[in-house]
Amino acid sequence: MSHDWQITGKTEVAAVYGWPVAHSLSPPMQNAALRVLGLDMVYVAFAVPPAGIEAAVGAIKGLGLVGVNVTIPHKHAVVDYLDDLDETAAAISAVNTIRNEDGMLRGYNTDGPGLLRSLSEAGVTVADKRVAILGAGGSATAVSMAVARSRAESVAILNRTAAKAERLADLVCDKAGRCDIDPLPIEGDEAREIVEAADVIVDCTAVGMHPNENVPPVVPEEWMHEGQIVCDLTYNPRETVLLKAAARRGAKPIDGTGMLVHQGAIALEIWTGKTAPVEVMREALLKALKA
Ligand code: NAP
Repeated sequence: MSHDWQITGKTEVAAVYGWPVAHSLSPPMQNAALRVLGLDMVYVAFAVPPAGIEAAVGAIKGLGLVGVNVTIPHKHAVVDYLDDLDETAAAISAVNTIRNEDGMLRGYNTDGPGLLRSLSEAGVTVADKRVAILGAGGSATAVSMAVARSRAESVAILNRTAAKAERLADLVCDKAGRCDIDPLPIEGDEAREIVEAADVIVDCTAVGMHPNENVPPVVPEEWMHEGQIVCDLTYNPRETVLLKAAARRGAKPIDGTGMLVHQGAIALEIWTGKTAPVEVMREALLKALKA
């Protein structure tokens, strides 16, 4: 590690664009990685209002940024202003990472691969498993596409608004060629059967997210049991109401910090071509989350 590094006229810049963005954990996580890798690069956050996103994407070229992460609410909006999209980002029409390749802006989405890496480090693969995805919003779209492409035995998408689950199942059929996905409402007997039979449950809803920690879990505690993996994408708090319930039932809980670390690690690898120091990133993220 370089202890005497300082910003100079040659220092390169990467960033995250969001609105709001002050709460983002990416700057401490990415800067910790950049210092360990000894790269002359910094990572900063820019609060970009929706009306400013086109200009902000133009600024990646104008200012020669290495790349940016894109977070809520811009993941879909940036698609129109990029020169190229990788296959995953194109399929879900959402970008969380942009790389500036000599003035050509290419969009990627590392959320789905980030989830798979996070499961994998916990010793879980979705191949040949029955997977129940809870939610049908932005993160559920990325997760559904990744899971559908990972040879899961079965995939079900359960959502409060059933029509959105149906639209997402149609998208996965269209883009990933997997057309046997069950879309259904998150309540009722059929939902219960699917959740009880699932090997892996991935909660992509915002239920239990700070400051609404003390709510009932998105599915009843009795639906979960020993032998299941229950992963919650929500990472603040780490131990969500769903994960507490899963643990009480003997299921294995996996919190959302793993996905957050890995989606960032993959972004860093896209920008720098270096292997990301995942443990350093995790440590920085958990420290920032506690603070
Ligand atoms: P989003 O696009 O707004 O989708 C929210 C989803 O939650 C929708 O399916 C919505 O259902 C459902 N929902 C909200 N309130 C509900 C309730 N009271 N009961 C049942 N369902 C409810 O949000 P998102 O961007 O996908 O993010 C979802 C969560 O994932 C957030 O906590 C976010 O922080 C987390 N996340 C984590 C990572 C990570 O790296 N760990 C990455 C991305 C997101 P309806 O369709 O019926 O409204």
